[in-house]
Amino acid sequence: MDNSAQAAPQRSDQPDAVGERHRLAEVARYAITLDQSDPKLDLITTLAIQAVGAEIGGVSIVHQSQIWLPSRIGVDARHVPRAGSFCTWVVGAASEADFFEVEDARADPRFSANPLVLHAPHYLHYAAVPLHGARGYLLGTLWVMGTQARRLAAQQVLMLQGMAGLVVDSLELRYCSDVTGMANRTVFLHHLQLGLQQSAQPQVLVGFVDLMGFRRLNDVFGRESGNELLRLLGHRLGEWAGAHNLVAHLGADKFAFALFGEHAGHVARLDGLKQLISEPFTLAQGGAQVLHARIGVNYHDIAVPGSAAALLDAADTAASAINGSYLRSTVKEYGVELLARSQMVFELQAALDGDVRHGALAVHYQPQLNYGEGRLIGMEALVRWQHPQRGLVLPQHFIGLAENTGKIYQLDLAVLRQVCQDLRGWRDAGLPVVPVSLNFSRRTLLHPQVLGDLKLLLRRFGIDGHMLELEVTESQLLDTLELVAPRVAAFRALGLRIAVDDFGTGYSNLDAISSFPFDRLKVDRQFVNGVAGSERVAGLFKLIQGIAELFKAELLCEGLEHEADLAWLAARGAHCVQGWYFSKARTADSIVRVLGCMRQRCAAAAPLTPPQLRQLLDNC
Ligand code: C2E
Ligand code: MG
Ligand code: MG
Repeated sequence: MDNSAQAAPQRSDQPDAVGERHRLAEVARYAITLDQSDPKLDLITTLAIQAVGAEIGGVSIVHQSQIWLPSRIGVDARHVPRAGSFCTWVVGAASEADFFEVEDARADPRFSANPLVLHAPHYLHYAAVPLHGARGYLLGTLWVMGTQARRLAAQQVLMLQGMAGLVVDSLELRYCSDVTGMANRTVFLHHLQLGLQQSAQPQVLVGFVDLMGFRRLNDVFGRESGNELLRLLGHRLGEWAGAHNLVAHLGADKFAFALFGEHAGHVARLDGLKQLISEPFTLAQGGAQVLHARIGVNYHDIAVPGSAAALLDAADTAASAINGSYLRSTVKEYGVELLARSQMVFELQAALDGDVRHGALAVHYQPQLNYGEGRLIGMEALVRWQHPQRGLVLPQHFIGLAENTGKIYQLDLAVLRQVCQDLRGWRDAGLPVVPVSLNFSRRTLLHPQVLGDLKLLLRRFGIDGHMLELEVTESQLLDTLELVAPRVAAFRALGLRIAVDDFGTGYSNLDAISSFPFDRLKVDRQFVNGVAGSERVAGLFKLIQGIAELFKAELLCEGLEHEADLAWLAARGAHCVQGWYFSKARTADSIVRVLGCMRQRCAAAAPLTPPQLRQLLDNC
């Protein structure tokens, strides 16, 4: 829950607050239609009811002026909206107290007109414990009600308070960020959805705040200072948004907000937001820190039906489309061009889920050759998206999207599965199979299930780990070396070979790459293409070749296109290549033909010369 949730809601039974009471009742009614009861909380509520001999009970969460009932027992949905006003009293009138009781609601002018009291079965007794979160903010109440007027014994109050402690633990675990204590994504989406359905405001602006370079800050100043910064920022955001809007901490360095009101007022508020993020934060251990963020926003008319999750996704998409400098905060609005992007994300997910109306992913293979020995030494698996309207879509158009929208693991795993299946099929057909290289994104490399899933696939298709190679780029390594290096070692232990991909394009941090073992260095295309005609490129190539020798790794030259470059490489003894000069990436069917031709040629005594190799690949 964010700090602004501490603001006392308006008292629902004051004469000038009749409209507000009605609104709260409406909110609670929507809460019922939206939510399933939470089974763990239900268990605690049931115990609380039994412990004090009540008849009904529930957990009410207060967020700004809204009430949410994630647990309700013995409550007819009809009664819940009316009971909501009891909770607002506890929060408003007794936020400092640790217990609130109405012994006989008939005799209490605040509640005597409440429909729960007025109508059968006439709930007269109400007892509630305010739920105070670990950082002092008020979450809501655990409440019970009964039809008999009475006063709870001290022992019963204690029990109710004990149960409330359990509810707080459970709520904080599920609905709050453990770092800032603010509402998490679930709560944000829930309240936003309520707002979309019942807000009296004409419009809403949904925003996604993604801090830039925060990982580095964590590295430099330590995780505790990082968390402190997040808490301070969360507090500023809560104050900036105000009590009638929403703010949440989605996790890590990402926040969300929703501002209800006229769009006209939002532009100036966004300027204020950029400013408050960039104003220095003073840390407890001393020193000031400045933050910058990518802020994606999505304007929405409340009259138009909308899904909270889709609005937040759109704001997220807008934020991730900002190619930001780390030096200032930037706002980007979700518009037509991003709509197309979202459409693509939607279609990609559908294709990954097997919906053929949006095409299918296909794995193509690009041969890797040792032209000195005249043979095929491997293949790189390269994903493509065969789309009904767009045609064959290359990975540069969708890998980034998949990475930014959390779909990359599913994609990389689909490629891995296809590769295992193809390898098995080729082997069963008696073809001379060669190892296949895979490109795993960082998220895939670090995914908690990746090793388990890989082992399962290897076993299922009867594939030896030596038949696979994993390409890890330098940037993947450097960003999170301490996480990636042990992962890479675990893959190696399964027999997979490791290649450093696109070598030379990053920092070429020898210290970093020397800290984990690898088998192959793939020289990036920019140090191969044109190497024969440029002294500068040639010099850089020689450097990289020296590094491969130093690490006793095989050197594989990517992107070979020209004969002159081939001759230059041959003179330097760089014989392993992958490039269009010999072959572009091919379909699996085409690879079957290549392997068939190779098998025939292997029977011949003399190794193939480069022109023969090229011709063979051209012809099959
Ligand atoms: P990469 O791993 O560096 O793959 C090599 C890219 O260079 C491929 O582009 C390949 O077609 C292209 N290429 C090879 N030889 C030549 C040449 O002689 N000239 C030119 N101009 N290009 C050449 P592609 O297939 O478009 O793949 C681009 C990138 O997409 C790959 O770069 C890789 O980073 C990524 N990628 C491909 N498949 C996957 C996948 O299954 N998962 C993930 N996570 N990434 C993938
Ligand atoms: Mg690669
Ligand atoms: Mg590469």
